[in-house]
Amino acid sequence: MSTHVSTERLEAITSSILQPTAANGVQGRTAVFEDVIGGLTALITRHRPIGAEVLRFPPVMSRALLEKSGYLKSFPHLLGCVSSMTGTEAKIRALVEGRADGQEWVEALAATDLVLTPAACYQVYPIVAARGDVSVSGTVVDVESYCFRRETSSELGRMQAFRMREYVCIGAPETALEFREAWKARAENLATQLGLPFTLAPASDPFFGRAGKLMAVNQVEQALKFELLIPVNSEEAPTACMSFNYHQDHFGTTWGLRTDDGAVAHTACAAFGLDRLTIALFATHGLDLEAWPRSVRDALGL
Ligand code: ATP
Ligand code: ZN
Repeated sequence: MSTHVSTERLEAITSSILQPTAANGVQGRTAVFEDVIGGLTALITRHRPIGAEVLRFPPVMSRALLEKSGYLKSFPHLLGCVSSMTGTEAKIRALVEGRADGQEWVEALAATDLVLTPAACYQVYPIVAARGDVSVSGTVVDVESYCFRRETSSELGRMQAFRMREYVCIGAPETALEFREAWKARAENLATQLGLPFTLAPASDPFFGRAGKLMAVNQVEQALKFELLIPVNSEEAPTACMSFNYHQDHFGTTWGLRTDDGAVAHTACAAFGLDRLTIALFATHGLDLEAWPRSVRDALGL
């Protein structure tokens, strides 16, 4: 596989800009990495649509809410669930301290009402729905969360825990679609400002199983998802660093979201993978921030 990024540079990002841990795809972020994430965050904030509401979430969410969102049908293989110890004190103590009867302590675990958030926008829809109708002209939410996905590959940029920033639009079908299209164009400008080589391509989500393959084909045919791809590990398989999604009435129907003309609301989101974008910046411009192009440092306030 060919790449314009040297192996030494990729290795330095993997093991020095990021700090590997005993868990695959779970890394410590160094100061320099966080400086760039901070710059990116501020740059994205400067492009925040006027009037957008800001919501930040912890990395866990209600299991019932995620079940209702339909996540289990589409991506059960990526979900992480929070479990905790149940049972009597004696049972728990025996399992933890004594590893009693050759049992593993994990056998005492039971699922709780929480899951690890797999995408930032899921928490937004029920909150907005509970407030009543949204205007046909649309409402926009600026959301960020640490997300978890049970990824099995450990290539650079495919993490199990990562930060996702999103602008989510809820409104009439045309409003949601126009929002998605506008963000495709804006994101191309952002990538250009950041000196990142990119392509924008139709994409599909990694739906589970055989039926999932059909859903993925359908998603591409209907042009519901686009990704902004940047070569990091190779030119042939560039890394998806942003995505632009039109969900049609999926979340509107699920949560009873309506516009004030009585129609089911449609939704769209522009999602920024903050960690992946940061990795792409180091891969493209090198490990030394001082040596990055002046224009890129200015855009990031560095
Ligand atoms: P992929 O196609 O690589 O699985 P995606 O584009 O389908 O990712 P989305 O569900 O659209 O992912 O998530 C929005 C953004 O979150 C992505 O564009 C990407 O930047 C980031 N992201 C997704 N999965 C990961 C991951 N495993 N590690 C780091 N960032 C991720
Ligand atoms: Zn989303």
